[in-house]
Amino acid sequence: MPRPDLLQRLANHTAERTRTRLLRRLHTIDLADGPWLESGSQRLLSFCSNDYLGLAQHPQLVAALTRAAREEGVGSTSAHLICGHRREHAELEEALAVWTGRECALLFSTGYMANLGVLQTLLAGGDVCVQDKLNHACLLDGAKLSGAGLKRYPHADVDAAARQLAANPDAAAMLATDGVFSMDGDVAPLRELAQLCARERATLMVDDAHGLGVLGAHGAGSLDAANLGQHEVPLLMATLGKALGCSGAFVAGPAALIEGLIQFARPYIYTTAMPPALAAAALEAVQLAQAETWRRDKLAALIARFRRGAAELGLPLAPSPSAIQPLLLGGAETALAAAHALERQGVLVTAIRPPTVPAGQARLRITLSAAHEEAHVDRLLGALETLHLPASLRAPGDDHV
Ligand SMILES: *Cc1c(COP(=O)(O)O)cnc(C)c1O
Repeated sequence: MPRPDLLQRLANHTAERTRTRLLRRLHTIDLADGPWLESGSQRLLSFCSNDYLGLAQHPQLVAALTRAAREEGVGSTSAHLICGHRREHAELEEALAVWTGRECALLFSTGYMANLGVLQTLLAGGDVCVQDKLNHACLLDGAKLSGAGLKRYPHADVDAAARQLAANPDAAAMLATDGVFSMDGDVAPLRELAQLCARERATLMVDDAHGLGVLGAHGAGSLDAANLGQHEVPLLMATLGKALGCSGAFVAGPAALIEGLIQFARPYIYTTAMPPALAAAALEAVQLAQAETWRRDKLAALIARFRRGAAELGLPLAPSPSAIQPLLLGGAETALAAAHALERQGVLVTAIRPPTVPAGQARLRITLSAAHEEAHVDRLLGALETLHLPASLRAPGDDHV
């Protein structure tokens, strides 16, 4: 057997995607203007960004970024432990810790790296990491990198998680879950999971990428909404790239955790610190997200309006209370055709297909934002009404609305 060629093997994988019509394509956006996007000659109303509070283009964020960049330049010029850790980072970490009710917080350049860092640092071979089947890819990757045994329980099934922990009574254990699930929009059974972890002496980690800013009275996220403190959930990760409209992420928890991450988390140590101007913008976003409760109220009203309208149309709506409102269409072809039909009407919604979601569970992942208006939601509903969906997908509620 000749030695296999790596690039040829990759090309074969890609060709297979083309053959099964699962090839993904980049969409270059020329201009973003609130929820409106321009791409080529098209102007599209977008329902696929994670800018849930409508902060990404806020003038105060832009001003903070510009001001800090004028003073400090663009790049941080090195890793945090060399000379990249600036006053802006320290102030942001302090604000994030206070907001989430944790002792300390530590910035990472991305959420992906934060999760890799936490799992790799805390877990080792012989340990067990129990995770929800629908967790974000980076939580799964983090467990794999750590060498711990990875057990995945059926979505939100606390009893199954309990059995997995009980089956490994002597191993050090972590249970990791998304707070709000990124492709389904539902919230994890956090209180039950916290009770389970307390009983089993397992450490609970929550990835609140989609909860921070959106849930909780002051936007402190799904743990705040469930009234769970640092004692119950020692490991909290959340990102700055979603509701906060910036980029980057942080881990918040006990001081000893943060100290350990600074010492041992490779994705923290061996990478360039995020630009200080970005940290300055994120600090502005944290303050706005806490103070401007109208953004959460408006988002909630838009979510309610969308769900009411979608139910009236008999659309296959998932039971989600969050800004993520998936329409479950089943086949990848159906989802892709629906996305194309919407785009022809000037509405941009992404079709999410396997392997991002399980086979047979392709969907339109609709996301709402405080940047939308009621008229935008109505326009989306109008476009959805014209879709020719298979009759089997229409919800039974169709007849009596
Ligand atoms: C987006 C996301 C991440 C990754 O965060 P980035 O900052 O985009 O790398 C991690 N976890 C969940 C649940 C996410 O949705």
